[in-house]
Amino acid sequence: MVPTPTSAVKSKPVVRSAELPGSFMKSLFAGALPADVVFPYPRQDAEARETLDLVLESFRSWARERLDGGAIDRAAAFPEAQVRDLKELGILGLTIPEEYGGGGLSITAYCRLMEEIGHHCAAIATIVGAHLGIGSKGIVHYGSAAQKKRWLPGVAKGDPLCAYALTEAGSGSDAASLKTRAVWDETRQVWMMNGNKRFITNGGHAGLFTVFARTEIRGEDKISAFVVTRDLPGVSTGKEEDKLGLKGSSTTDLYLENVPVPKDNLLGEPGRGFKYAMEILNE
Ligand SMILES: Cc1cc2nc3c(=O)[nH]c(=O)nc-3n(C[C@H](O)[C@H](O)[C@H](O)COP(=O)(O)OP(=O)(O)OC[C@H]3O[C@@H](n4cnc5c(N)ncnc54)[C@H](O)[C@@H]3O)c2cc1C
Repeated sequence: MVPTPTSAVKSKPVVRSAELPGSFMKSLFAGALPADVVFPYPRQDAEARETLDLVLESFRSWARERLDGGAIDRAAAFPEAQVRDLKELGILGLTIPEEYGGGGLSITAYCRLMEEIGHHCAAIATIVGAHLGIGSKGIVHYGSAAQKKRWLPGVAKGDPLCAYALTEAGSGSDAASLKTRAVWDETRQVWMMNGNKRFITNGGHAGLFTVFARTEIRGEDKISAFVVTRDLPGVSTGKEEDKLGLKGSSTTDLYLENVPVPKDNLLGEPGRGFKYAMEILNE
């Protein structure tokens, strides 16, 4: 048989880089493919793959019955019924750690799920992404044990829905120039927060916002991260943005007017907020 290019590639032995006789190129010339160098991403074990397959299958069978991405875009309204279903299916808690009632899915599984959701409806992918991918991650990664216990069981059920509030009218790409400020009030033992955030996904429906604001920490001007819940006085959201696409997703301003943010709502270390903001976006 004349070897085709494909069969020639397949016939190369796959080895691990630790077993290489020399450099990567040398091993290619010797006919060995060090697959872990070319594809260094973590592999899921059999159990995790099986769990993910079940999740994907249950999402797909629901989507076949109940999800019409085109109709959601044409309606240009937040898909309340579908989001309610997602809560019941447990999709809105899939990456929240199991000890708080979530599914404990890995980032790899999350990416695969988002790919599947996006295939059916980009607006739903945006809603789930803002809730799990950015809105609740501050608590998962930097929250104290008490903060996790307080908020994550609800977040895992999609109630409250979460949002991530970094962008402002004058600070988008240059996020570090944000102007929202939280000033420590020694008498009331709260952070008084003032500022406006822009283009906040899930804004009109979220009950919990991870907000980044300037703070004075030991005499220095630093950004800190806070959990701001909608029930706090002075929190409100603006009208829905009329977008060219993703019309079923909610995008609004978030207004913070003399909001007394409790000291227990500060996330992680004071002054580390910008690092947290970038780490959340980068994961
Ligand atoms: C649908 C939608 C949902 C969003 N959801 C959220 C959310 O949930 N939370 C949140 O915090 N934010 C959210 N955003 C905001 C988003 O993160 C910002 O739009 C983004 O950071 C860009 O900021 P900007 O729109 O102010 O554009 P700008 O920063 O003003 O940029 C405008 C253009 O200038 C270019 N540009 C900027 N700086 C430079 C430079 N130095 N050199 C060369 N080119 C440059 C940019 O690439 C871009 O093309 C959302 C935005 C949209 C559209």
